[in-house]
Amino acid sequence: MSASNPANLGASTLDTDLADRKAAYLPPSELAVKYAKGLQAHTPPTPHTSATYAAGAANPHLIKKIESFYVRPRWLFVRIETEGGVVGWGEGTLEGHTEAVEGSLKDISRRLIGWDAMNIEDIYSYLHRHRFYRAGEVLMSAMSGIDIALWDIKGKVFGVPVWQLLGGKVRESAPVYGWIGGDRPSDVLEQAKARKAQGFTRVKMNGTESLGWLDSPHALDETVKRLAEVKSVGLDAGLDFHGRVHKPMAKQLAKLLEPHRPLFIEEPLLPGYVKEMKDLYNQTSIPIALGERLFTREQFKPYFELGCIDIAQPDIAHSGGISETKKIATMAEAYDIAIAPHCPLGPLAFAASLQIGFCTPNFVVCEMSWKMHYNTGGFDLFTYMSNPEVFTVREGSISLLTGPGLGVELNEELIRSEAALVIKEGIEPWQNPLFRGPDGSVREW
Ligand SMILES: [Mg+2]
Repeated sequence: MSASNPANLGASTLDTDLADRKAAYLPPSELAVKYAKGLQAHTPPTPHTSATYAAGAANPHLIKKIESFYVRPRWLFVRIETEGGVVGWGEGTLEGHTEAVEGSLKDISRRLIGWDAMNIEDIYSYLHRHRFYRAGEVLMSAMSGIDIALWDIKGKVFGVPVWQLLGGKVRESAPVYGWIGGDRPSDVLEQAKARKAQGFTRVKMNGTESLGWLDSPHALDETVKRLAEVKSVGLDAGLDFHGRVHKPMAKQLAKLLEPHRPLFIEEPLLPGYVKEMKDLYNQTSIPIALGERLFTREQFKPYFELGCIDIAQPDIAHSGGISETKKIATMAEAYDIAIAPHCPLGPLAFAASLQIGFCTPNFVVCEMSWKMHYNTGGFDLFTYMSNPEVFTVREGSISLLTGPGLGVELNEELIRSEAALVIKEGIEPWQNPLFRGPDGSVREW
């Protein structure tokens, strides 16, 4: 280009410019081309009697199709089908951010067609490590939905529950807890009695309504009263501070609650305040739980190393699915930290969490969304299930799931019709409520 005829930067279509731009990107290496569809060389397994494909088929486990379905009340299901006709289901619900995860799933789905569904770890590695940007709630929720569906497929191919593939069972039933009190806790006594009648022995409730950074100490009185009421019914109760309680109030509340012995306090501070959590940890004997907003082992690591939590609460629909949650649990065990999967979500996330519970020594309890305050409009945990009896709560626990894969059978026709209806009617995905203080300022939800 001559100085008198400067290039119109950003608009040049000259061949030489295009050639220069191409040269800026490295062509794929030979190995990248060889493994473009992941690890493919495999020994064909002998098909289980339940499999629909014939022995000797080329590779019936190649991923043929990936779909996602947003269904009310607020869940995002993932469906993967193999060339051999095996269908696996997962869940990548990210409450309040549905479209973001759908976008990520669209991108992932395009990339994974033709990959071997049996190579779960290879697919996880590819999705997590190859793309430069990693972790974060959106990408991890999409990956979690994929991972859970792949484990469902593997279980169905071999005709065994997922816990069998992860080392076998360590318990015959998994303790669960239900919610009382809703977003703004009230009437907890009656709700606690109802939970007891439903078979629960443990419940969880929000610790407080929205709270100012420095609020009146009297704002905490109701919390203590509510816990005492629930304990009077004979239930144990976890208190979810929900990250709503900032440090000046959190240390007061922990002290006030201590004589009433809650099962645990959850997110007493927002994630990220690791040192501050350690300070609080040193001031109270109440077990501290946290983890629903942490993704992967790396994000749990500082909490484990500093010793500032007692219970890790990975959410299997966000933390990396079954693969990563099992690893987080194993890592936690080395620090004498228990695992209590966070799961205010749908039946697939719940079943996947229970699969971890059945095969993990340091699992203690799992959240269950049955009759939870988010499940409105006639939609609840069992709505899309054909075998809801597997989630029967007896003496506070759910018996070993014995079906292949996740052990959950779905009403696919209903899922498809509901997802189509949501699109047709323009029904917006679920959003969390906005909390503001008396001065109009935004508060944590
Ligand atoms: Mg919570």
